[in-house]
Amino acid sequence: MTNSNGSQLNGSQGKAQPCLRVIPLGGLHEIGKNTCVFEYGDDLMLVDAGLAFPSDGMHGVNVVLPDTSYLRENQKRIRGMIVTHGHEDHIGGIPHHLKNFNIPIIYGPRLALSMLTGKMEEAGVMDRTILQTVSPREVVKVGNSFKVEFIRNTHSIADSFSLAITTPVGVVVFTGDFKFDHTPVDGEYFDIQRMAHYGEQGVLCLFSDSTNAELPGFTPPERAVFPNLDRHIANAEGRVIVTTFASSVHRVSMILELALKHGRKVGLLGRSMLNVIAKARELGYMRCPDDLFVPIKQIRDLPDRETLLLMTGSQGEPLAALSRISRGEHPQVQVKSSDTIIFSASPIPGNTISVVNTIDRLMMLGAKVVYGKGEGIHVSGHGSQEDEKLMLALTRPKFFVPVHGEHRMLVAHARTAQSMGVPADHTLIIDNGDVVELTPESIRKGDAVKAGIELLDASRNGIVDARVLKERQQLAEDGVITLLAVISTDGVMAAPPRVNIRGVVTTADARKLSLWAEREITWVLENRWSQLSRNTGGKAPDVDWVGVQREVELGLQRRLRRELQVEPLIICLVQPAPAGTPAYKGRADAEPDTRPAPRGGRREGGRDAGRDGGREISREVVRDPARTPAPVAAASAVAAASTPAATPAARSAPPVEDNEPEGRTRRRRSAAVAG
Ligand SMILES: [Zn+2]
Ligand SMILES: [Zn+2]
Repeated sequence: MTNSNGSQLNGSQGKAQPCLRVIPLGGLHEIGKNTCVFEYGDDLMLVDAGLAFPSDGMHGVNVVLPDTSYLRENQKRIRGMIVTHGHEDHIGGIPHHLKNFNIPIIYGPRLALSMLTGKMEEAGVMDRTILQTVSPREVVKVGNSFKVEFIRNTHSIADSFSLAITTPVGVVVFTGDFKFDHTPVDGEYFDIQRMAHYGEQGVLCLFSDSTNAELPGFTPPERAVFPNLDRHIANAEGRVIVTTFASSVHRVSMILELALKHGRKVGLLGRSMLNVIAKARELGYMRCPDDLFVPIKQIRDLPDRETLLLMTGSQGEPLAALSRISRGEHPQVQVKSSDTIIFSASPIPGNTISVVNTIDRLMMLGAKVVYGKGEGIHVSGHGSQEDEKLMLALTRPKFFVPVHGEHRMLVAHARTAQSMGVPADHTLIIDNGDVVELTPESIRKGDAVKAGIELLDASRNGIVDARVLKERQQLAEDGVITLLAVISTDGVMAAPPRVNIRGVVTTADARKLSLWAEREITWVLENRWSQLSRNTGGKAPDVDWVGVQREVELGLQRRLRRELQVEPLIICLVQPAPAGTPAYKGRADAEPDTRPAPRGGRREGGRDAGRDGGREISREVVRDPARTPAPVAAASAVAAASTPAATPAARSAPPVEDNEPEGRTRRRRSAAVAG
């Protein structure tokens, strides 16, 4: 089942030697959105498709997915998908992908597919694929090139698998997420024998989890937290509140076991906590009596010493139950000073600040909070260096590729492999989109494919593209300036521009910005009008209003960047006025020092030279209202002059309120665009 007949399967490529291509589209140089492609000849198989959570600056983004252009382009070759386990960073992307390309069948463990079913129902894509559950040591065939055996491993979620993938060039072991836990909570042992069997037969390449590659020793077994949780729950005077990952099925099992032991009824908070417990109990991964659970509304009637609340929020997620409780915003649960609150999880990098803030708020409300490494109430689900060595020892791979980790973790893992005799040139450290090309004798990096990220907004439907993200960053960091210009179809400014400023930290006021805007508009009308309007022989010339807006926005943006060192989002709205509308004459009275708006003829020099002669700028800096406030009378004169009713053209314009919400402004913008 190795390389001898591989050439037929790989015929169309026309290469000297057929090769297996392994392409991770996510999960490298990061923790999250694990997505890996296996390709041989005409067959393409996916292994896992996860999501990641947004980092700082990704405003309004809920979910980060890998760029799947490569999969969309090659969807005819997708023969099927393998799921290793039910964590979000391995299955969270699947419902979204099913909307975009076809995956004929998905094989995976029962618990993961049960969790996936819920997500697919929610996304309305249940009919797009076939879900096929597998048992330990089951072998499935995907296309003509892949035979995949599911090998039971141990991890923080129940029902997790490593994979032995038999391909025409040899066997590839793909560990999935793992640690070696010899006393698993659910009694499902790591199938070390099977792993050793493949090692004995010869493993071409090992792709192994690198999450804890920097940590020496073995990761402690999940059971190690039991006595510590037991002690804290035994010592609690009042209610016990515990938070952990809902998907940490073993941890949740132990907490339920301890509640039973200490005679406490359990109330559950958080949708994912309720979902996972229901699924895990239904499938037999969690065993406890039904009457252990009491609805949250009734649990208040029980004495505090007889209750335990288990909830989401271990990562400080703003909408999760515990975070809302810490802010006093939860309708059913308020913190009491007799509460013992246990954080049985460690923050994922990036969540640390929101977690410590939540802990602070809970402490300030008087609760006893148990958290942190020293308490022994959390262990990782990923193996450390000695676990990784054991995996290398069992599989004895010819080639090695560290995966599932940030760059330094991959480097540390490669070093561990080298310490065990894997030559450095048999190891590849790769990035998302890199192509690992394997033959029976060689490993090398091929030409990379397109990889990157797709960002989904709260609706999980809209893709947030790079431009939208940039606009949101501008809004968050520098605010927004909207600008209404009234321009006639024959290229005359018919009213002074009106400016609204929101969230911009600047010494300049709306009046100054309005003056600057006036100059930009004047400049565009004088220097760009001939390119932006076209006389089609009809009554009015054809005007590229979008182009006019863009020119004014760009000009004002440059000026603000240069003179105020701010980069707000600028939205210019143009209200077209009929040809022949009288021109607005400028504002010489309010700004007597300003050079009169030039009429006709091009200015000397380039565009920038025309826009800001040095003299003009320095005068304006001196006139900065923060330093020399403009007289009140002059200011109100400007305000009066700049009401839209000042000109006949502007009278037809819809009134622009100063506190206009963004949505209306945006709509108006598109209305002007349409005009
Ligand atoms: Zn995992
Ligand atoms: Zn993972």
